[in-house]
Parts: sequence; structure tokens; C-alpha cells
Amino acid sequence: MSDTEFDIIRRYFTRQDSSRGDVVAGIGDDAALLQVPAGMELVVCMDTLVDGVHFPAGTPAAAIGHKALAVNLSDLAAMGAEPAWATLSLTLPESDPDWLADFSQAFFKLADRYQVQLVGGDTTQGPLSVTVQAHGFVPGGLALRRQGAQPGDHIYVTGTLGDAGLALQLAGDAGPELQQRLDYPQARLAAGQALRGIASAAIDISDGLLADLGHLLENEQLGATLCIDDLPRSDVFTGTVTRCGTAAGALFHDLPLSAGDDYELCFTVPEASLQQLESVLARFSCGCTHVGRVEREAGIRCHTADGKMYEPATDGYRHFGVSQHD
Ligand code: ADP
Ligand code: MG
Repeated sequence: MSDTEFDIIRRYFTRQDSSRGDVVAGIGDDAALLQVPAGMELVVCMDTLVDGVHFPAGTPAAAIGHKALAVNLSDLAAMGAEPAWATLSLTLPESDPDWLADFSQAFFKLADRYQVQLVGGDTTQGPLSVTVQAHGFVPGGLALRRQGAQPGDHIYVTGTLGDAGLALQLAGDAGPELQQRLDYPQARLAAGQALRGIASAAIDISDGLLADLGHLLENEQLGATLCIDDLPRSDVFTGTVTRCGTAAGALFHDLPLSAGDDYELCFTVPEASLQQLESVLARFSCGCTHVGRVEREAGIRCHTADGKMYEPATDGYRHFGVSQHD
């Protein structure tokens, strides 16, 4: 690298102006020194983005900088947490000033929006890979969990589904709105926090609705029915998919069911908490949609609004052939 690791850290990742009161020591010491507020539980998550696996080769540096943090904030959102700190492990093939400037600006733009402070990391040379660890707080005992759904609970998703998957499918020809959904996902933090004490279980949709809803049901060995006509689709999704010719019919249903990368939340709400859900909906700028019910019988059954069963083609993205959260 032309710049040393220390030049890179100083130039692109050390900032004087973003200090939170709970950071005793941030970048520059051997480790960060952080204060968790009394009564809060610390929520920690980490996600790695690998070139060619989690984003196509040639993805703009700004999109990578945004997405690396956004996917972690999405995990915090799914836990009902409020984000606070992040660490960043960056492996770069070379020190490219333009790439680093775009990457770090997009990272900090998103971090600043949620008052997240970058408190440390690691910088190494090698094939492009970005790992972010995010830290947040949730009042003791109130975190949303993957387990907790009960038969009869109502299933909801935030925002719209299938947009990012369609952009991926159309590989650069999707138009700016869909491409934005793929490259600049928005973590549903306000929704996650509003759902504390209301949702019986929650997860963020990174691998597709069927796969991720499956994770909410598997611990309890439960199942669900989904109405595919109720799945929330954006106007640009519907407009674009109808131009996909013969594949349009399958894509219209299967992308919202199976495509990953939307980073919406999927959550379950007991019948007794539906009124409470109504009372916090105003806090969701992204909206939320009822898509089905939890059932005692294992497996996810999809049907149309007029009651016909629907068999989706695939059930989500899998690494190593085994379903896992990426
Ligand atoms: P050490 O050799 O003690 O592990 P490093 O040289 O790796 O220290 O890092 C020096 C300081 O810079 C540490 O505080 C570390 O957390 C921080 N740091 C390193 N890389 C990054 C990065 N990409 N983003 C933010 N902070 C970083
Ligand atoms: Mg180090």
C-alpha cells in the first residue's frame, strides 16, 4: 500500500467531532473503552461483506461503506436496540484514496444519522472484505428475540419486499430506485424500537421472507400460512417486474417471498397486542403489512387471496448449501 495502515486510519477513519459521552477512549488506544448505561443490556452483532459474494464486483465504494454498517444496524433493529458504537475491520487489496474517501464518507453519513460512533477497528491488506461490528442498547429484558412466536400470532413485515432482489436479478438494468434499495438498505431502527413489548418475535429479512420467517418458527417447531397477494410490493417493483416478459408471473410472487437483501423486519404480534401495535404504527415511516398467521402445524404454506395454494420456486439464499444468516 502507498499509505501505511496508520495513514489510512488517521486520514479516513479518525474524526474529532463525533464523540459520544459514553466513549471513554475510541480510535487510537489499544482498545476502545466504553460505558453501557445503567439498566441497559448491550446488544452486539457483526456482519462481513466479501467482494463478489455480498456485493457484485464493481459496486461503488459508497454503497459498500453504507451497506457494511446498514446490515449491522438492521440486526440491531431486529433486536429492538438503539445503536451506539461500531468497529470496522477493513481488508483492502490496495490503498486507493478515491475509494477510501467514498467508502468512509458513506459510512460516516449513515453513522451520523443514528449518532453511532466508530470506536476502533483493524486495517489489513488482502482481497476486499469489510467487517463491521455494531453495538447498541436495549432496556433490560425488552430485546426482541427470534424465539417467542405462538400459534395464532399475526405475521407482519415492514416496508416492501423484493426490490433489492429484483435489482440483483436485473444486474445494473433495474433503474435508480430499485438499485438504491439494493445498494443503500435502510435499517428499520424506529420500527424495531417501537415493537419492544409488542412483538412476540422478530428478525430482519436478509435471506428472504421464507428463510427468515422459518428462523422465527423453527425453535418452537411452528408453521405459518402466508397470503402471497398481501405481500407488500413497491410500485416500482410491480411496474418493473411486468416488463420481465415470461418470467414476470413467477418473479412477482417469488422475489418478495425468497429474495434477500431488503433488510425489512418480519415480526409476530399476539392477538392481544394488536391494539398496541396500532398505537405505535405512526412511528414506522416505512409502514407495515399483515402477511399471515402463525400455526401449530410445521412448515410455511403460501396461498392466494382466493384460497389457492401456491408453491414457491426457492426458499432463500444459502451459503455452503445450508441456510444461514449472512
Ligand atoms: P494494534 O496494533 O494495537 O492492534 P492497530 O494499529 O491495529 O492497533 O490500530 C490502531 C488504532 O486504530 C486502534 O485503536 C484501532 O482500533 C484503530 N483502527 C484500526 N483500523 C481501523 C479502522 N479501519 N477503522 C477504525 N479504527 C481503526
Ligand atoms: Mg490491530
